[in-house]
Amino acid sequence: MRKITDEWGKPMTLVYQSTRDANNKVTASQAILQGLATDGGLFTPTSYPKLDLDFEELKEASYQEVAKRVLGAFLDDFTEAELDYCIQSAYDDKFDTKAIAPVIKISDQQYNLELFHGATIAFKDMALSILPHLMITAAKKHGLKDKIVILTATSGDTGKAAMAGFADVPGTEIIVFYPKDGVSKVQELQMTTQTGENTHVVAIDGNFDDAQTRVKAMFNDPELRSKLADQQLQFSSANSMNIGRLVPQIVYYIYAYAQLLKQEELEMGEEINITVPTGNFGNILAAFYAKQIGLPVGKLICASNENNVLTDFFQTGTYNKQRPFKVTSSPSMDILVSSNLERLLFHLVGNSAEKTVDLMTALNKDGVYRLEDVDADLLALFAADFATEEETSAEIKRVYESAGYIEDPHTAVASAVFQKYKASTNDSRKTILASTASPYKFPVVVVEAITDTKGASDFEALAKLQEISNLPMPKAVAGLEEAPVLHHTVIETEGMQVAVENYLGL
Ligand SMILES: *Cc1c(COP(=O)(O)O)cnc(C)c1O
Repeated sequence: MRKITDEWGKPMTLVYQSTRDANNKVTASQAILQGLATDGGLFTPTSYPKLDLDFEELKEASYQEVAKRVLGAFLDDFTEAELDYCIQSAYDDKFDTKAIAPVIKISDQQYNLELFHGATIAFKDMALSILPHLMITAAKKHGLKDKIVILTATSGDTGKAAMAGFADVPGTEIIVFYPKDGVSKVQELQMTTQTGENTHVVAIDGNFDDAQTRVKAMFNDPELRSKLADQQLQFSSANSMNIGRLVPQIVYYIYAYAQLLKQEELEMGEEINITVPTGNFGNILAAFYAKQIGLPVGKLICASNENNVLTDFFQTGTYNKQRPFKVTSSPSMDILVSSNLERLLFHLVGNSAEKTVDLMTALNKDGVYRLEDVDADLLALFAADFATEEETSAEIKRVYESAGYIEDPHTAVASAVFQKYKASTNDSRKTILASTASPYKFPVVVVEAITDTKGASDFEALAKLQEISNLPMPKAVAGLEEAPVLHHTVIETEGMQVAVENYLGL
């Protein structure tokens, strides 16, 4: 593997700095172990590795080989053998296609990058199938004796994908909180039927933002941390706040570009746009990092559902979370506080922890902040729009009728936003569109959109979807109706910390 060198040719280790404290700097493996910085910030690269993206070579490379390049560059305090082990353990036959992330042509300008071929049929598998291996490897490297407690708030997909990755992994315990009324039936059953001695699933009566806020508060509570330490326990995160989730997401954008070159859909060096259905801003941030290390990207198109706080942010420069929270048919994007946006802000204000703290303090205090004096070139990389529920449903139908392809509601949000983008600009660049879930995960919405019928149950809709799509039902949903429900706990949001303390015997 190529050693990363500084401008004088000396090998160097990449620094991950907290977005809220310039003195809090760690290496990649330390950042992965900690998950979140204890000052409340997010570990973020302050410079980018120099990576030789030779696409003549990359277009012949397997997913695993591309992963090795990218992870080797960003996670540079792992050895080659360690990364090989992690990559081989993650991207194996848990995925139902050798391509791991196939790229499908939808129209002359739109290529859907299917990120849902893993164990839980949503894009979270792309990173969560490798994160446990990275974390355990990092723990060994640092001689850590503590048990790692993964504390996770989920808007529906992270929870299941994290448990699938961490179930029965020695030295780990995983606790997942999800909004009781904020996930699809299939998503809920996927979680509540999870096996594994070390898995805990808890429904709360609040929404995702409530869950995420309390999880962050537990991470930042020194008293709770010391109670954990007394029991040889330590928290880490499986959310995209963990750099160990973000970096593996860079891989597939590079891979997709290489595949499109191979399929002769792109010319060498041709600029593309990337459209991403966005919630916590992790997936699109990974695309941003792909651009920073040399992927020829024009615009990053940020697509939101009716919780369009990011659309307003990019269009006006003001982030205002004070607005009604809407439950939509794309629940994994029902988010008003996008955690990873903090990383982009940090870059926009010149990697200044001080300025980032000011903005985040305003957000906490007043629920709103306004960008001033930012790197205008960086900001101009982004375009943003949103799709209403009606537009999303119409897009599912349009794509089905025009391309014979079935998009899940999250992908359809992105697809609808890309249509609007095309109509409102004369940008003729092609787009890679992140397809974040299988339609089988949201069968009711998809079947209603395509057939204009209403009232089918989830399992009726699954059967109907199989009939319409002619695609085999994925393992992830096939046995769900009969699987025993193993987790029944429903609590008030206020009780989250008590639940954690009970599970851990604190
Ligand atoms: C998590 C998720 C998203 C949003 O991704 P972020 O990285 O949080 O922006 C979109 N679609 C699906 C299906 C998801 O599971």
